[in-house]
Amino acid sequence: MPGEDASVVVQVAVPRPLRRTFDYAASSPGALSPGTRVRVPFAGTHVVGIVAGVGDVSPFALKEIDEVLDQTPILSSDLVDLAAWLASYYHHPIGAVYATMLPAKARRGAPAEPVSEVTWQAVEDAEASELLKRAPKQRLAYERLQQLGGVLDSELKGLGFVRRHIAALRGRGLVRARPLAPCYSAGDPRSHLRPTAAQAAAIEAISASLGSASTHLLDGVTGSGKTEVYLQVIGEVLRQGRQALVLVPEIALAPQTTARFKERFGAAATLHSAVSDAQRFDIWCKCASGAHKVLIGTRSAIFTPFADLGVIIVDEEHDGSFKQGDGLRYSARDVAVKRGRMLSIPVVLGSATPSLESLQNVRLGRYQYAALKERAGGALMPTFRLLDIRGQRLDRGLCEPLHDAMARHLAANNQVLVFLNRRGYAPALLCAKCAWRAQCDHCDAKLTYHRAHRARHQDLRREAAGQLRCHHCDWRCAAPSRCPSCGAAELTPVGTGTQRAEEALVERYPNVPLYRIDRDTTRSARRLAADLAALRSGAPAILVGTQMLAKGHHFPNVTLVAILDADSGFLSADFRGPERTAQLIIQVAGRAGRALRAGEVCIQTFDPDNANLTALISAGYGAFARNELELRAAAHMPPFAALAVIRADSETETGAATLLGEAREVIEGDEVEVLGPAPAPIARRADRHRFQLLALASRRADLRRALTRLEDAAPKAPGVRWAIDVDPVDTL
Ligand code: ADP
Ligand code: ZN
Ligand code: ZN
Repeated sequence: MPGEDASVVVQVAVPRPLRRTFDYAASSPGALSPGTRVRVPFAGTHVVGIVAGVGDVSPFALKEIDEVLDQTPILSSDLVDLAAWLASYYHHPIGAVYATMLPAKARRGAPAEPVSEVTWQAVEDAEASELLKRAPKQRLAYERLQQLGGVLDSELKGLGFVRRHIAALRGRGLVRARPLAPCYSAGDPRSHLRPTAAQAAAIEAISASLGSASTHLLDGVTGSGKTEVYLQVIGEVLRQGRQALVLVPEIALAPQTTARFKERFGAAATLHSAVSDAQRFDIWCKCASGAHKVLIGTRSAIFTPFADLGVIIVDEEHDGSFKQGDGLRYSARDVAVKRGRMLSIPVVLGSATPSLESLQNVRLGRYQYAALKERAGGALMPTFRLLDIRGQRLDRGLCEPLHDAMARHLAANNQVLVFLNRRGYAPALLCAKCAWRAQCDHCDAKLTYHRAHRARHQDLRREAAGQLRCHHCDWRCAAPSRCPSCGAAELTPVGTGTQRAEEALVERYPNVPLYRIDRDTTRSARRLAADLAALRSGAPAILVGTQMLAKGHHFPNVTLVAILDADSGFLSADFRGPERTAQLIIQVAGRAGRALRAGEVCIQTFDPDNANLTALISAGYGAFARNELELRAAAHMPPFAALAVIRADSETETGAATLLGEAREVIEGDEVEVLGPAPAPIARRADRHRFQLLALASRRADLRRALTRLEDAAPKAPGVRWAIDVDPVDTL
C-alpha cells in the first residue's frame, strides 16, 4: 500500500536538444497526464518541460517536480502521440520537438487562459459616405468592416486595417468595439454557390468520410472552385459541432483568402508569421477551448490543439513552404495526414499541381482522388504559346514578339503579368575589361546587383541605393563605381532581375501603371494590399514579379501572363527542379483570365523542344507528372524511395566532409544506398563549408533504422554542425 509520501515517476521532456526524457518524482500525481507543463530543476536551473509519460512508483530517489503549470494538459493526447511520432520519424530530439510545437509564450510557462478581446464592428449610418467623403482610406476601412461583419482586435493588422483609421472612425461614431467572442455560423446553404457536378462529387465524397480517417487529393485547375469545396465541407463540419483547420502557404494568407472564410462562417482565426506571440498563444487557447471553430494558418498551425477537430485541409499541398527548413524539418502536409489518421478525421489536400508524392499515393490507393477539370462559373482556361528566343535580340530580358502581345492586351484594356523568378536588378555585375565579377566574400555565390529605386509618382519605395547583395547570406555592400580589380570606370550588370524588367517596361509603356511584387517591395503587408486593391479596379496595368505572384492572389483582369525564363528551373541541379518549375509555370499561368476574358500565356525559352516544357503545355500538368514519375522510378528517387539528406557544415574545409565520412560508415547497410559525402551545390555559405550525404532506401523502415543508428552514434567534431533532413524538399 502506498504510504503518505508515495510519489509516482513522471517522464519529462525538457526544452533541450536531448533525445531522452528525464524522470522526476511527483507527489500529487492526480493532476499529471501527458501533455501537462511542469517546472522542473534541470542542470542547475529550472525549466518548463512537458510530461511525456507517467510511470509507477519509483524505486529510486528522484528529484521532485517544482510546480505543475496546467490544470488540464496544454497538449491534447493526440498531440502527445504526434510529438513522439515526429521525434522518431524526423529523428529529432523529443525536447526540441515539444519546443517547436509550443508557442514561445507557452514555453515560458504563461498560464493557458484565453484573453478576452474586442471585436470591431461598423455602425450602420446613412450619412457615412457623406461623412467620409474627404477620408477615402477611412471610408475603405469602414466599408470592409461592414462587409466582414466584425473583426477581432488581434486580426486588424493581418487584414490590412490601420489602427489609426479605426480609431478615427470610432471618433466619428462609425465603429464600435464589442467585447464579443467570435461568433461562428455554419453558413446558410441557400447563400452557397450551386456546386458544379464535379464539385458536388468531391463535397459528397469528403463529407461521407467525416468521422473516419481518410486522405483526399483534390486535383483542381486554378479557378476550378476548390475553395468552394473546402467551404462547403467545413460548413458540414461546423453543423456537426466540430472544428476545422485550413493550412495555406505563407503568402496565400492574403486578406482575400481569409475574407471568404469570414464571410461564410462569421469568423475565422488566422495564424501566420505576422501574428504576435501573445496572439498566437491566445488563438491556441481558443482553439483548444472550442471558442474558435475555424483556423486558417501557415505551417506551424498544424500543432494547434483543438477541442474537437473534424477536418484538416491543406491548400496548395505541393507548396515548398509547408516544409520547415531548419530545426525540426517537418512537412506540415505530411504531419497533417498523420494527425488526421490519429484523430480519425479526413484530410483534404488541394492543388492545381499536386506533388508527385500525392499523385503516387493516389495510384497506390492510399489517397482518394477527386478532380475538378474545368473552371467554375464558365471561365476559360488560358492558351499557351512558346516564344523561341534563340538568336533573338532581347531588351533587358524581353523579346519583340512578347512586346507585341503585351501591346495587344494592354490596348484591349487588360492587365499583363510578367513573371521572372529573380529579384534585384541583375544577377551579376562584371568588369568587361578584366573579367572581375562581384562575388560574395562569404559564400560560393555571385552577388546580385540591386539598383537604387527612382521615385515614381507618389510611390516612395524604400530601397537602399545601388547595392550588391548576397541572396544566400544576406551580406550587403554599396556597389563599387569602378572595377575593384583594374580600376575600369564601368561595370556591366549581366542578366535580368525584376528591377531591370521593371525599368524596361516603364520606358516602353510610360502611361501604364506598373506594380512590382517581390520580396523587396512587399515587406509591408499594407503596401501589397494597396497594390492589389489598385489592380482590382481593372484598369490596364503591368505587374512584374517573382513567385510571390504564383500563390494565393487572384488577378481577375490579367489576360496575358509572360514567363521570361522557363529554362533555368528545368536545368536545376536538384531532382525536384522539373517538378517545381512545372508547378510554378502552371500556377503563374493560372493567374490569367480567371474572369470571363480568355487568357494567354507566353513562355520565352531558348529550348523550345525541351521535353518537359512541351509535355507540360501540350498535354498539361497531369501528363507531365506521369512522365516525371516514370523518370523518378527509373532513377530510384522519391516517391519511389525514401530519401534523407544528412547535411553538415564547418568553418574548416574538411571538418564537415570528415564527419559525414564517419556518418556514412554508420548508416551504410545492405538495404540503404548512400551517396556522398559530396559538397553541397553552394559549397560555402556564410563562411561555412557545406557537405551532404544522401541516404535512399526502398523501404522506409530500412532508412529509419539506419538513421537511428546514426542518431545513436551521434558523431561529433569540433565546429561541425550536422542535421538529418527526412523527405527533403531539395538537395541544394
Ligand atoms: P480555386 O480555389 O480552385 O482556385 P475558387 O474556389 O477560388 O477556385 O473559385 C474560382 C472562382 O469561381 C471564384 O470566383 C468562385 O466564386 C467561383 N466559383 C466557384 N464555384 C462556383 C460555382 N459552383 N458556381 C459559380 N461560380 C463558382
Ligand atoms: Zn576590371
Ligand atoms: Zn553570401
